[in-house]
Amino acid sequence: MMETFKALYSNGKRKSEVYKKRQSDVYESQEGKERMVDMEELIIIGSGPAGLSAAIYAARNDLKPLVLGGSAPGGQLLLTTTVDNYPGFPEGIYGSELIDNMRKQAERFGARFENDDVIDIDVASRPFKIKTAQNEYEARALIIATGATTKWLGLESEKRLIGRGVSSCATCDAAFFRDKDVVVVGGGDTAMEDSVYLTKFAKSVTIVHRRDEFRATKIMQERALSNPKIKVIYNTVIDEILGNERVTGVKLKNVKTNELTELPVQGVFVAIGNMPNSGFLKGKLELDEQGYIITNEEVKTAIDGLFVAGDVADKRYQQAITAAASGAKAAIEAGRFLQNEKRS
Ligand code: NDP
Repeated sequence: MMETFKALYSNGKRKSEVYKKRQSDVYESQEGKERMVDMEELIIIGSGPAGLSAAIYAARNDLKPLVLGGSAPGGQLLLTTTVDNYPGFPEGIYGSELIDNMRKQAERFGARFENDDVIDIDVASRPFKIKTAQNEYEARALIIATGATTKWLGLESEKRLIGRGVSSCATCDAAFFRDKDVVVVGGGDTAMEDSVYLTKFAKSVTIVHRRDEFRATKIMQERALSNPKIKVIYNTVIDEILGNERVTGVKLKNVKTNELTELPVQGVFVAIGNMPNSGFLKGKLELDEQGYIITNEEVKTAIDGLFVAGDVADKRYQQAITAAASGAKAAIEAGRFLQNEKRS
C-alpha cells in the first residue's frame, strides 16, 4: 500500500489527490485510479462539547476515534465568556478553556483530530464515506455532533459587542447582568424563557419583537407577560447596538412608523432561534422541518451505526452539559454497536 502511496505521489499528482495512511483500504475510484482511503472504526464529526465528550468516552474505550472538528473547531461555547453552569467549576470557566480541556482529555486517551470541514457524507451503506475539503475517509461507525449556530441579527455593532454585553445564551450569561437593564430580542419560546430567566438577576427586561404578537406558546407568553420586571415593545427592531467597549444602549426602530428611539441598557440577548448545522445531511438523514436530525431512542438514528449527539438533534435544551451528556451516550452506543458487530 505504501508503494501505491509513493507511486501516486511521485507520479506528480497533487498531494490532495493522495489519500492517506492508517488502516487504509485500496479501491478503484470512479476515474479508475487507485486511491487509498482512511478506514476508521469511529469518526466523530464536530468538536463542541458533544463531539469532545463522545471523543473522551470512545477513546477510553480504545476505539481510537478520529474527530473531524471543522475549520473553526470548538462550537458555540467559544462565543461565551465565562461558563458558570457547567458542573465541576465552582468559580466558572471560560468557554474556550473548557473546550481546550475537553480536547486535551480526549487526546490523552488517543483521540485524533483534524480541523477539516466535512463537505459530504454517504451513509446509504456501510462503511460510511466521509469527504472533507482535504481528504476522504471511511468509518464503520459515525457520530454526528455538528451542533447549531445561533441566528444573529446581522448588525455590525452586534458582532463587535458579542461577549461585551451581547449574548445569545441567557442561561450562560444572565448572572453577569445582576441589577442591570437588558433587552431580549425575539418572540418565540426562547425569548420568553430567556426573559423570565433573566429577571432572576436583571433589574428590568425589555422584550423587543418585530411583530405585534408572539409566536411563543401561550403558557410561555403568560409566564413572561405576568412578570412585573418584563415589559414588551412590539413592532420594533434593533437598528443599532450602542457602546464602544461595552453595551450602553440600543437604538430601536418602529417598523410601522420608522420612528427611531434610544433605550439605555447594559445587555442585549438575541433569542431569534438557532439553525442546526445539518445542511450537508439533507436528503441523507431524516431531518425535521427546521433541519434538526430526527432520532429514535435518543442518540440513535434509523441507520445502523450512525449516532447523533448535541444540538444538531436537540432543539429543546441546547446546553453544554446536555450536549456533553448526549456525546457520552452516543459514544457508548457506538462502542456497543462495534463490539456486537465484531462478535457476530
Ligand atoms: P423560533 O424560531 O420559534 O422564534 C424565533 C423568534 O425570533 C420569532 O418570534 C421571530 O419572529 C423572531 N425573529 C427571527 N428572526 C428575526 C430577526 N432577524 N429579527 C428579529 N426577530 C427575529 O425560535 P426559538 O429559539 O424561540 O424556538 C425554537 C424551538 O425551540 C421552538 O420549537 C420552540 O418551541 C422550542 N423551544 C421550547 C422551549 C420549551 O419548551 N421550554 C424553550 C425554548 C425553545 P416572528 O415571530 O416574526 O417570525
